[in-house]
Amino acid sequence: MAVENPDLTVDWLVVGAGAAGMTGAVVAHQSGGSVLVVEKEAVYGGTTAKSGGVAWIPANHRQAEVGVRDSVDEGYAYLKALIGDSVSDARIRAYATRASEMLCFMSTHSHVSYSALPRYMDYYEHLPGYKPGGRSMDNAPIDLRRLGADAGTIRLGHYDGLLLPFNVTVEEGQALQEMNARAYLTGLRLLLRYLLDIPARWKRQRDNRLTLGPALVARLRLSLQDRGIPLWLNAPVRELVRDGSRVCGALVEKEGKVQRVEARRGVLLATGGFSHNAALRQRYQRAPIGDKWTAAAPGATGDAVTMGTRIGAALGFMECAWWSPTYTIPDGRVLALIAGKSNPGSIMVNRQGRRFANEAQPYEDLVKAQYQSEARGEGAIPCYLVFDATYRGKYAVGHLKPGKVERDAGIPRENFTSGLLTKADTLEELADKLQIDGAALSQTVADFNHHARRGEDPGFGRGATQHDRYYADRTVSPNPSLGPLETPPYYALRCDPGDLDTKGGLLCDEYARVMDTGGKVIEGLYAAGNASAAVMGNTYPGAGATIGSAMTFAYIAARHAFAGDEQEST
Ligand SMILES: Cc1cc2nc3c(=O)[nH]c(=O)nc-3n(C[C@H](O)[C@H](O)[C@H](O)COP(=O)(O)OP(=O)(O)OC[C@H]3O[C@@H](n4cnc5c(N)ncnc54)[C@H](O)[C@@H]3O)c2cc1C
Repeated sequence: MAVENPDLTVDWLVVGAGAAGMTGAVVAHQSGGSVLVVEKEAVYGGTTAKSGGVAWIPANHRQAEVGVRDSVDEGYAYLKALIGDSVSDARIRAYATRASEMLCFMSTHSHVSYSALPRYMDYYEHLPGYKPGGRSMDNAPIDLRRLGADAGTIRLGHYDGLLLPFNVTVEEGQALQEMNARAYLTGLRLLLRYLLDIPARWKRQRDNRLTLGPALVARLRLSLQDRGIPLWLNAPVRELVRDGSRVCGALVEKEGKVQRVEARRGVLLATGGFSHNAALRQRYQRAPIGDKWTAAAPGATGDAVTMGTRIGAALGFMECAWWSPTYTIPDGRVLALIAGKSNPGSIMVNRQGRRFANEAQPYEDLVKAQYQSEARGEGAIPCYLVFDATYRGKYAVGHLKPGKVERDAGIPRENFTSGLLTKADTLEELADKLQIDGAALSQTVADFNHHARRGEDPGFGRGATQHDRYYADRTVSPNPSLGPLETPPYYALRCDPGDLDTKGGLLCDEYARVMDTGGKVIEGLYAAGNASAAVMGNTYPGAGATIGSAMTFAYIAARHAFAGDEQEST
């Protein structure tokens, strides 16, 4: 038996048009299936389109070109040391062995084009199997116009038009941050390329050269186009349909009508996380959480969790997220603070005017430390990134261009009136404006400066790891992440314990099959990406771990449904 009176029958129904969904669609189609992708928003791309698009792929086929030697065993050893037994060993092993297989497949059968970043290191260098670069991978840029009519419905990138008029790749962004002769040359080259795109400038279009997450989304969308895979926009899935215990399709809302879609081989839930669902967050996560601090796309409302639990699916890691400090700018955008927190001349403090962590550590760990400070009663939500005029002059932070490019007078006033940005001539005055302990702040800065001049941070060890130094200022020595805050005026940027999306969701096995609360597989139902309980558990191994795992388990799901991988490997 199948869906009664279906409006449409396909082999594979994909719910959600982000990295996981569109990858799963390509793989199923290449395996001979008929595929439909449905997306509830009016634009496609989800949080993937807001992202850096980096994918973390151990033992990938592009590493040799940048002189990195890696192996599946080393990738597995690193993941296992970090994740431990919190995730099934079979699932960790599946990721370590099949991420590179997924990448080869997608490089051959789609427009996806990744290259290895030789200096983008794993986050935990003390662990076995660690690599100082090569696993985190960047997308090749692509011209938006290649998408034709679909160019109009792609989600905009996270920083679109904020800091620069043109888009940059990871390496270009890194070069620009260095603010040296090479940076100016890179900037000039990119600006000229942007300006010389006369037809686009004439029509006042955004930069058509897409990079980062939007490039990945465009490449995936183009791959669907080539294959004639339909993508319905404004088409939320409302309910899964079962035949006995097997999922055999779904009810999709389209143009005000319910479409009964039968899916012969299965349904892939790739709906992202639940970061915009305040009720789910408050139920599963630590107070005072809500839905305001996330940088995820608005479609991340936990529909997989809602629909899956209705039919008995088990959940995992619901208390977790891909944490990152965030802050909300006057136009309402929530930005992730990933780079600016590592540069010299800055610290983060709680309401007691004290540092609570190594600010340069991985963003996930920094937010965990922020919650710990809050739990100790120190008042760390929000906390403040405090920096001096030297820092302000040299570095971009979030949406603020370096002071030598844009003076304070050019910063829209709402940044100050909203309390996002505070400025004062002395640390005492700054503390007064923030209503935090001024004496403690002055003492914190004095202590920090004393050690920072020598390149030391005895309290928190900032700048000791390759990770801490990656986002810092390599021209500063002896420690690129440390420098005193000594030149007034002083500034404070208010930061929340935000996230890039949640990482809890439907509990899956190593074939991305959704499990029920009794530990049995729900036949016909697969999940990947942030709709599923993360293979990374409560950890973040390196840049690209979320997109890498989203694409890998979508690949595994489609291979299982179409190519019988389970039989092959058992
Ligand atoms: C600023 C920023 C930078 C980041 N940088 C990186 C990075 O460089 N590398 C990395 O690995 N991760 C990064 N991330 C995290 C990463 O973007 C996400 O974890 C990942 O893209 C999630 O992919 P996904 O396919 O699971 O979900 P999404 O890309 O969010 O796609 C899910 C889609 O499903 C749709 N949907 C939801 N419910 C329904 C429904 N009922 N019916 C139909 N459609 C539905 C949503 O609207 C959405 O379009 C970043 C995130 C942010 C915000």
